[in-house]
Order: sequence, then structure tokens, then C-alpha cells
Amino acid sequence: MPTSGLDRKASGSVVSKRTEGLLNERPSEKRTSWNIPASTLSKNTRNVIREIVEKLKLTPNPDKPMIPLSIGDPTTFGNLNVAEQAIDAVKRSIDSNKHHGYAHSAGHEFARAAICKYVEHQGSVTPNDIIICSGCSSALEMCILAIAEAGQNILLPKPGFPLYNTLAESLHIECKYYDLLPETNWEADLVQLESLIDSKTAAILVNNPSNPCGSVFSREHLKKIVEIAERNFVPIIADEIYEHFVFPGSEHVAVSSLAENVPVLSCGGLTKRFLVPGWRMGWIVIHDRNGVLGEVSTGIRNLSTRILGSNTIIQGALPDILEHTPQSFYDDIIDILHNNAKLAFDILSEVPGFKPIMPAGAMYMMVGIDIDNFPEYQDDLHLVQELVTEQSVFCLPGSCFGIDNYVRIVLTVPEDMIKEACIRMAEFCDQHYKVDNRIIDKGLLFVGKY
Ligand SMILES: *Cc1c(COP(=O)(O)O)cnc(C)c1O
Repeated sequence: MPTSGLDRKASGSVVSKRTEGLLNERPSEKRTSWNIPASTLSKNTRNVIREIVEKLKLTPNPDKPMIPLSIGDPTTFGNLNVAEQAIDAVKRSIDSNKHHGYAHSAGHEFARAAICKYVEHQGSVTPNDIIICSGCSSALEMCILAIAEAGQNILLPKPGFPLYNTLAESLHIECKYYDLLPETNWEADLVQLESLIDSKTAAILVNNPSNPCGSVFSREHLKKIVEIAERNFVPIIADEIYEHFVFPGSEHVAVSSLAENVPVLSCGGLTKRFLVPGWRMGWIVIHDRNGVLGEVSTGIRNLSTRILGSNTIIQGALPDILEHTPQSFYDDIIDILHNNAKLAFDILSEVPGFKPIMPAGAMYMMVGIDIDNFPEYQDDLHLVQELVTEQSVFCLPGSCFGIDNYVRIVLTVPEDMIKEACIRMAEFCDQHYKVDNRIIDKGLLFVGKY
């Protein structure tokens, strides 16, 4: 058709006009030398944690072995093992010689059907509502890309996982932050959350259970967030990579299960619950009961064709992994993390200057710091650095997650290591915590209990 070429040209110029202001200045003349600028997107992509950590001078005390309580990878210390059923399933997937090829870019139908069954608690969906991604990060990226664009904004939790900001800001999508309040076990400040919504708000991101807080929202609290979304016609992106990862006494409720009239894009995966971050297996579940996301769902499927789909060896193993991993595997991990949380909480609760907040799930604990009582240090970054210099204990400063005067510790380390780390943190406080500029005589005697 002679007109199709014209159409393509016309739509091409519309795109370039809309993105014009975001592009590098490009010379109008042909190049006469090798001067190759990087794209604006690549230059605007920042890793906040790396930027903050690289500014610290980390020189551990040579007399004390380093204890990194900073690494959010459950495989680091070798104390938590992948379920043998999962390993066997992957071996069978390879040996079958059936899973070396391309799949549909949204994933094999049988793998999507397996996810569909696994996420039954989220609400009823079909395999067509599922897009398999390369890890949960790629699921989040596709959701943000499909639902928001330059000039719009998304609402993010603070403190929160820095990846959301990395994904959005590089695309000139504004990040607006709703506060999670430590005094109410990190519930969202709902009044403030709603006040942030304006005509440009494309989505509310809810991360439950939370990284870095280890908090788990109650059903009632989640309902209130859903009500806000409904009143304002704003969809929810749910980062539920820690779903089911809750300690006894708490309940994990999928936000989609409460959202009758609000569309929810739920992001999940194998990464944390199955202890396999390197397998890069994540997914999006599109919950769109009233069919209001039509174009966005198509957009997500379009985006999935950009990398031609995710790892098919793991897709081949997925039905077996999701069905045959025994409950005892999940229970054992929760048990280990819960015990570590209780141990760290008990020790640090007795340390003047530190205020641990007991988590209800995930793999982390936030510890508040009374920075005013550490007059030698300008701020929490300085304190974190000196904790490495003197005690060889490294925690991520709260500023990595958008909050000052906290540190985040990971709970996936072996028990003796977390105990040793907390005792060293107590020793550190004993030497540096001051009231009216004087060391108080609290002593470390209590540590004998542990
Ligand atoms: C670890 C983590 C992810 C990323 O998971 P991958 O599957 O490794 O991409 C996403 N969100 C949160 C909150 C996380 O802690």
C-alpha cells in the first residue's frame, strides 16, 4: 500500500517530537571525528547503593574477620541451601533436551499455567494474564515502562527498594514518596499518600513484605491503600517478591486479592523464597477484573518481545519447582530467619543508641540510630564507616533506602555470625555512645547472656 510508508513516517516524527527535550544535543553536521556520546538514558541510570557505598572509606579492622550484614543475597554464606527438588527439576529440564530453544516471549504456556496455579491466592487469573520475566526486577521494569511515561509520576514507599527510582528517573518519570512510619511498624502514612496523587500519577507501588523494613501490612491496612487507589482511579504495582515470606503471627495478604475494582500488576518470582537470585526467574500477574488495563496489558506483552523472553531451562523446571518443593523447605527458612531476627532484636534492644524494629517477614531488620548521642560522628554514614573500621561489621546505611539515621541488617547470615555482629555493635556503642558528651557506664555485662 502506498500510504503505509507515509503513515510510518508520520508516526515516527510524532515519537521524536515527544521525546525531543530528553535527548542529548546532537550535532547537525556529519561527524568528522570519533566522538561518540552515550545515550541520555544510559547516563541517567544510577545505582544509588553503589554511589553511597563507594563514598565510604571501608577498611575493616585486621584483627576481626569482616561480617557483611549488607548483602541481600541469601546464597552468600552457604548456610541456606536450595531445595533438592528444585535442583533436580533443573537437571531434568536440561537432560530432557527440550528446553534449549526460544519460548513465546511471555513464556511457555505450561510454565505460565504452573505460575497461574501457584498464585491462586492472588485472585483468579488465566495463563494469558501472566508474563514471565528475567527476574522480578525485569517484571518491575516492564510494569513501570508500560504504565508511565516521561512527565508522569509514580508513588513509591520511603524507605524503599532503590531499584524503583533507578528504573523511573532515567525515563524522566518523577518519583514521589509516601512515608512508611517506624512508630506503626512501618505502615504507610495514608493521608500523605493520598495527598501526593495528582493528574499525572500513573501508579502506586506497594512493596509487601518490605525491603528494607521487613514489615508486613495487615489486611486492614492494605484495604485502606486499595480504597485510596480506587477513589483516585490509580492502578497498583505490587512488588510481592517476598510473598509468603512472613514470620509466625503475621499473614501475607496479596493486595490483588482485596482489589475488586482496582487493577493490580503483581510482580513476583523464585528469587527470594526459593533462594535462587541467579536463576533470573520472575513474573508479572495482571489482575484486571474489570478489563480497564487492555492497552497496558498489550503494552506489557509488547515490551516482553524486546528481550525475546526469559531463560527457558528454568521455565522447563518451573512446574516441578512450584509443585514439588515441600512445605518443610519453606518452613525451615522462615524458622532460621525468624530466630536470627529475634536474636538480633534481643541483643540490640539492650544497646543504648540503637533501636531495632522487629520485622514480621522478608530478610531484613531496620535499626534506628540515636545519632545525637554519638557526637564523634557527623551522620549515620560516618557511623557506618567507623563500625567497619573498628568492628569489621558492615550494615547498609538507611540513606540507601531514602531514610536517615537507620541501618539495615540482613538476617540470612549464619546464627553465630549475626550474634557476633550484634555483640560487636554493642561493644561499639559501649565505646562511643555518650550522654552530655560523656560515656555512660552501661558496660557490656549483659552480653554474657548470649
Ligand atoms: C530482591 C528484590 C527484587 C529483585 O528480584 P530479582 O528477581 O532478583 O530481580 C525486587 N524487589 C525487591 C523488594 C527485592 O528485595
